[in-house]
Amino acid sequence: MNVLVTGGAGYIGSHTVRALLERGCRVVVLDNLSRGHRGAVPDGVRLVVEDIHHVDAVRALLTEEGIDAVMHFAAHSQVGESMEKPTIYYDNNVVGSYCLLEAVRRAGVKYVVFSSTAAVYGEPEQTPITEDMPYCPTNVYGQTKLMIEQMLAQFSRAYGLRYAALRYFNAAGASRDGSIGEDHTPETHLIPLILQTAQGIRDHITIFGTDYPTEDGTCIRDYIHVVDLADAHCRVLQYLAEGGQSQAFNLGSQHGFSVRDMIRAAKAVTGRDFAVEEGPRRAGDPAALVASSEKIRRLTGWQPQYSQIETIIADAWKWHSGHPNGYDDKA
Ligand code: UDP
Repeated sequence: MNVLVTGGAGYIGSHTVRALLERGCRVVVLDNLSRGHRGAVPDGVRLVVEDIHHVDAVRALLTEEGIDAVMHFAAHSQVGESMEKPTIYYDNNVVGSYCLLEAVRRAGVKYVVFSSTAAVYGEPEQTPITEDMPYCPTNVYGQTKLMIEQMLAQFSRAYGLRYAALRYFNAAGASRDGSIGEDHTPETHLIPLILQTAQGIRDHITIFGTDYPTEDGTCIRDYIHVVDLADAHCRVLQYLAEGGQSQAFNLGSQHGFSVRDMIRAAKAVTGRDFAVEEGPRRAGDPAALVASSEKIRRLTGWQPQYSQIETIIADAWKWHSGHPNGYDDKA
């Protein structure tokens, strides 16, 4: 299959590019490099520096490359920023995805696999979360992803597009060899921040809230290895190609770990001690988010291989310790 990966120079996109190549797909990456990294795209893969808003250019690319499927990762993904600057989230995520889907429709591409999020559920009434639970995003980021899912469903009904929306819980880790990994500016995610503290790049890690209604008072999340996520994308594409129904799938490990659990595990894996401070809650953080991934397991045979927290942290540590400044493209 010929697959176009938008946002293929970003964190989850770049791992999925490798997974597709391993399965014999031909891959083209489209990325405007606003947040992605040229160094995350493997040698020999065509990187087209273009913006998903440009319908004619994207349509021409889809046709020229004979693209069968689009995997759509290109998006802004920071919850806090989305609340402060909603306009860039509506423009980049919603309008950008509309333009991309319009190019997909005009080029007659059959399949889209979309990078969605557990943030579409907001504060869930119960865990584990299943796909039929109500959508109630508590932040603009989750709202934009939900709107794109709805757009996909409508394009699917009207034009016969086949799609899957993958709702990630907490994507984490790095490639098994530590050659690619997470590099956001600014970094806001727990595991990279903990590991930068273990490296001495930061002088402490702050726990955001110790008064949640959980066993140790800190938030519980479901961490899923980025290599397992990448594998899920390939399986879902195969599922669609074999006639599977368009729909959304949760992607998590089905296990919850608190912030204190993660800090403890990071100290054990890295063998380093570091300063931990307790701070107030971060606005918009639900107490506990744990996925039911039963549906994707049942329909595609997906099974996480590397999502034990020690493996996630060990792989992320390989990346961070080998690349203390991330990719070599900082000014
Ligand atoms: N967190 C924390 N300190 C930090 C960053 C994150 O305590 O410096 C907590 C955060 O409140 C959440 C969990 O770690 O409960 C995971 O946060 P992250 O930003 O990695 O992912 P999110 O769950 O927001 O998608």
